[in-house]
Amino acid sequence: MTLLNEFTQFKNKVTETAKSAVQKSNEIFEVTKINMSIGDAQVEIDKILKDIGQILYDSYQNGESISDEVADKCVQVDEVVEKIKEMKVRLMELKNVIICSNCENENQPDDLFCSKCGEKIGTEKSAEEENVEEESMEQESVTEESVEE
Ligand SMILES: [Zn+2]
Repeated sequence: MTLLNEFTQFKNKVTETAKSAVQKSNEIFEVTKINMSIGDAQVEIDKILKDIGQILYDSYQNGESISDEVADKCVQVDEVVEKIKEMKVRLMELKNVIICSNCENENQPDDLFCSKCGEKIGTEKSAEEENVEEESMEQESVTEESVEE
């Protein structure tokens, strides 16, 4: 084998190695791309399934007929929703704020109306008390002065 031949062989080997390295990195790139696409597709499926779940849950809340199996799941959702409510109430106590029932804005305990949407807030009152207040609110302009007396 001549030196030139040896060199040519060596050169070919290097070229081949380089080619296969490029091919390999292309393949790795494609694998990564496909994996990402599969991941995206899975996310899409999850989103659609979530939408289906929401539609079924809405049906359950509207009293429409759904299968017992779906109803059981909806009851489970209700239970978790209830837990979240309880945790939010506890958070409210810890943060010493009052959450607006209309827009969920955090208000100071002394606020009477939501600083964001103007909804009436304040400490929880019984329905009876609330009725009395509503009545007095209606007559406010008339009785405002007499209340102070
Ligand atoms: Zn509000």
